[in-house]
Amino acid sequence: MIHDVLIRDGLIAASEGLKAADVGIRDEVIAAIGEDLPGKAVREIQAAGCWILPGGYDSHVHFNDPGRPGWETSWHGSRALAAGGFTMYSDMPLNSIPLTLDGASFDAKLEATRGRAFVDYSFWGGLTPDNLDKLEELAERGVVGFKAFLCNSGIDEFRPVDQETLYRGLRIAAQHDLPVFLHAEDEALINERIHTLGSSGGYREFLATRPEEAETRAVEAVIETLRSAGGRVHIAHVSSPEVVRLVARAKHEGLNITLETVPQYLAFDQSIFSSVGGFAKSCPPIRSRESQEELWKLLLQGDIDSVSSDHSPSDASLKQRDNFFEIWGGVSGCQSTLNTLISEGVHQRRLSVEALCRLIAGNPRKLLRMPGPAFIEIGSQADLTILDPEVTFTLREDDLYYKNQFSLFTGMRFKGQVQTTLNRGHVVYDREVFSEVPEGRFIRPTKNDV
Ligand SMILES: [Zn+2]
Repeated sequence: MIHDVLIRDGLIAASEGLKAADVGIRDEVIAAIGEDLPGKAVREIQAAGCWILPGGYDSHVHFNDPGRPGWETSWHGSRALAAGGFTMYSDMPLNSIPLTLDGASFDAKLEATRGRAFVDYSFWGGLTPDNLDKLEELAERGVVGFKAFLCNSGIDEFRPVDQETLYRGLRIAAQHDLPVFLHAEDEALINERIHTLGSSGGYREFLATRPEEAETRAVEAVIETLRSAGGRVHIAHVSSPEVVRLVARAKHEGLNITLETVPQYLAFDQSIFSSVGGFAKSCPPIRSRESQEELWKLLLQGDIDSVSSDHSPSDASLKQRDNFFEIWGGVSGCQSTLNTLISEGVHQRRLSVEALCRLIAGNPRKLLRMPGPAFIEIGSQADLTILDPEVTFTLREDDLYYKNQFSLFTGMRFKGQVQTTLNRGHVVYDREVFSEVPEGRFIRPTKNDV
């Protein structure tokens, strides 16, 4: 048999763990797995000592196309993802201009991304009190779901949902079997704190206005709405361990609710603010050391469904203001998700490679009905990354492929380095070299077979 690509002597991530095998790829699919595979290939890759992992699916990034090229673009962001071992992403309906709130703005985003992304991509639509009548046309165009905020989004035109809008949004989304993806912090509680404590000062003052209680209170209300409306909810960037427990109980009750966390809550605690200031600002904020370790504990016992990056860049000036409240709330880091999970999780906290694969590949694909592998298996789409688990390196600004070369993760010492990434069998990244042409494709959710 002539393969398009043969990967020799690696350790593949199978559902039962790592095992030694060659991988043969033909017509964008994993066609053969086995020791000493016979046959030739157009391209042979030597992977001795390396892990062959399913390409990650980052279901939460802000690449901002079209309209905010100074912050990030799909061209830059998708290169960063490929270099970080990811082969697919879903771009958020903000902070592009226009916001993705109807069919025409979806078309504009597709047009702006087509031919510029190095890995496969899909889009979230937005859900606000202003566009309930546009959800249908967004669903028809192939969004993976609808993003909504329960508090101020940071963009005035992207208004938070009220109870009624959330209820109606959940019901419309359910007709298309799509989830509503929620930024869950309680607006009333935050405003109450701002009213008492003010909205100026440093990071300590800011943190006092965004307690974990704002997350738990919001998620309690969401669970209540989900009980009456039905449908599916996915909670974005959970930082509070108590929210993970609330969601676990709601799942047990039979509700269709899942959650993600993001690497900054796993890699850092609040001591980071004294060293990097606004570069660590996100909403919700990075929590205490106790919450960080508790979050890891819950992740290790399987209570967290997925890990995305919530890559939310801006230009550097927006991360450096005297008043911490005015600093852009978003962390740049989609190149470092896999590095963080392997260094901090697999190497330091005994996260299994199978669980890692579920968090970044299998679970988000299943939740959002995206094609691609959960593990390295015959018949699955050949999205994979080859990673040397023993290489150590310190991430430097020069290593970053973002439009703006800064990240909360620079200076971190990582163990485990991506060597090569293949998207549908095509090598898109190989030791700091990218494919010449961006060949990422727009992917819509697969039809549900129920
Ligand atoms: Zn986000």
